[in-house]
Amino acid sequence: MSEQNAQKHSFQAEVAQLLHLVTHSLYSNPEIFLRELISNASDACDKLRFEGINHPEYYENDPDLHVRVSLNKENKTMTISDNGIGLSQQEAIDNLGTIAKSGTKDFMSKLTGDQKSDAQLIGQFGVGFYSGFIVADKITVESRRAGEDAANGVRWISGGTGEFEVEQIDKASRGTDIILHLRDDALEYLESYKVKQIINKYSDHISLPIEMQKEVWQEETAAEGEEPQGGQYVKTDEWEAINSASALWTRNKNEITEEQYIEFYKNLSHDFEAPLTWAHNRVEGSTEYTQLLYIPSKAPSNIFTREAKAGIKLYVKRVFILDEADNLIPNYLRFVQGVVDSADLPLNVSRELLQESRDVKTIREGNTRRILTVLDGLAKSEDEKDQEKYQAFYAEFGSVLKEGLGEDLTNRERILKLLRFASSENDEVQTSLADYKARMKEGQKAIYYVTADSLSAAKNSPQLELFKKKGIEVLLMAERVDEWAMEFVQEFDGTPMQNVSKGAVDLGDLQDAEEKKALEAAAEQFKPVVEKLSGSLKEKTKEVRVTTRLVDSPACLVTGEGELSPQLVRMLKQAGQPVPESKPILEINPEHPLVQKLDGSAQFDDLAHVIFDQAVIAEGGLPDDPAAYVKRINSLLLK
Ligand code: ADP
Ligand code: MG
Repeated sequence: MSEQNAQKHSFQAEVAQLLHLVTHSLYSNPEIFLRELISNASDACDKLRFEGINHPEYYENDPDLHVRVSLNKENKTMTISDNGIGLSQQEAIDNLGTIAKSGTKDFMSKLTGDQKSDAQLIGQFGVGFYSGFIVADKITVESRRAGEDAANGVRWISGGTGEFEVEQIDKASRGTDIILHLRDDALEYLESYKVKQIINKYSDHISLPIEMQKEVWQEETAAEGEEPQGGQYVKTDEWEAINSASALWTRNKNEITEEQYIEFYKNLSHDFEAPLTWAHNRVEGSTEYTQLLYIPSKAPSNIFTREAKAGIKLYVKRVFILDEADNLIPNYLRFVQGVVDSADLPLNVSRELLQESRDVKTIREGNTRRILTVLDGLAKSEDEKDQEKYQAFYAEFGSVLKEGLGEDLTNRERILKLLRFASSENDEVQTSLADYKARMKEGQKAIYYVTADSLSAAKNSPQLELFKKKGIEVLLMAERVDEWAMEFVQEFDGTPMQNVSKGAVDLGDLQDAEEKKALEAAAEQFKPVVEKLSGSLKEKTKEVRVTTRLVDSPACLVTGEGELSPQLVRMLKQAGQPVPESKPILEINPEHPLVQKLDGSAQFDDLAHVIFDQAVIAEGGLPDDPAAYVKRINSLLLK
């Protein structure tokens, strides 16, 4: 094809920015470019296998899929070829000119603008196809899509600056050749031993053969009667596989090294940190499948947004079917990354079909159980390393896991066992519910907890005063999800769980008869005050009553059984959700001087509102009318 056919295109702005960084940085780890390009070649072969199910003609006469790496010292080029799906002209323009890959987007969001640290990052992360420009000052891509005529090939050329060129070419063989024109400082990648090393390190687990030309040792021709002085390796026409070429998850556990598991994870997840742990199992029974599931060390930045995607790839008999398979893992375990390879699902399974499949349901349950078991193992382990891992896990994903209390009824008890909370006795170390239970006082019939907007608000909550006085431990819950999640929990291991800011306090046997009598007497004595208070505050409270739960505070707000707490109401309002109007109960402390002052006070109404508003503030809220509150306080101060 003639050069005149070449069209110039500009890269998308983000790509140009990325390329600038790639071509102007020094890398701690430049060799990752090969991992990225081989991974693309392997993806292209996976896609051919998948499309080939309905289009066997795509295989043409070339059914054995492979990736070939060839080195040319004369031209200073390295070529990575695959006979996968290939690219049409439009696909080359779209896919090599814009960033679609979420991993790369994530990388872009992590950029600091500081050359040095960004270069570090890129060196570990890899940025897909564009990683090629780490070692090349020009990349030529030649490709033909499966099913197209030989005349419909495409050549894509770029020097890694703002533009690329595209032209139509003849290409007999299906698939893609990526030709890297190596920079002068990257010529070490023309040495085959070096390239083999890199392939073994990063790409051993790739499920198709990565081949290089076989080399043989050729001795120098020596002069008559003399021994040859040396020789060299020369390439033959034969190709040999460098990697093991079996999908990692199909191999036997004890044949896989830790490094191989970690590399596989990095490739799969585009995470540059090693995973925290993993589980690899072949599951047999009514449904047969292999699961290789990883728990990452760090949560992605979007874990709490709608963009968060499930990290499971589905294969059927080693054929890649789809990624982000959210039917294979519950939402509350969306941080799990991995592969499921089913022996039973049909190859032409779609996302829609997955939803209804019984096998899928079984796999999902199996994956859930496996992850919970792994977590339980870490949590219970005596090994310090495991404990640290569990703490790291919990710090990153604990609040995601809690969503499971509402989502997964079957495993609720198992999830509860995995949760950790600060407590009124010790807010630095987190405790499990089982440990709390073991410390419960004699006669204590419930696990007590308080929810609030922050740990300090929880710790200093007026509702805790009586518990502190009596030395009863209360769990402090201050995460956004707690309030919602705990709505689903009535008990743990047979012991009721009670939110101390809900309903009346009933300490059961922990309260002696005398205390109960005193409360009754106080209720009788304060009856007129309570009635008058109810009148003054009828817009704001549902009920006013006398309590023994307070020691230092004059009053506190309590939510009626089965009603939304003030924190939850605030949270829902912030999220723009409609909230049913519900009024709290005001409980007053008959021992408090301010409350005692109420009876017969000339400023009863002002005092009543101040006491109520202070109870709101103690909860972490704001008075409905802050200005009126200030005015009242000032008027009282002046008296
Ligand atoms: P990702 O692999 O995450 O999609 P890359 O930057 O590595 O991102 O690749 C961008 C896109 O370019 C791929 O999604 C694919 O569409 C296309 N591509 C890259 N290499 C090949 C190849 N060898 N064969 C076919 N398409 C390819
Ligand atoms: Mg890629």
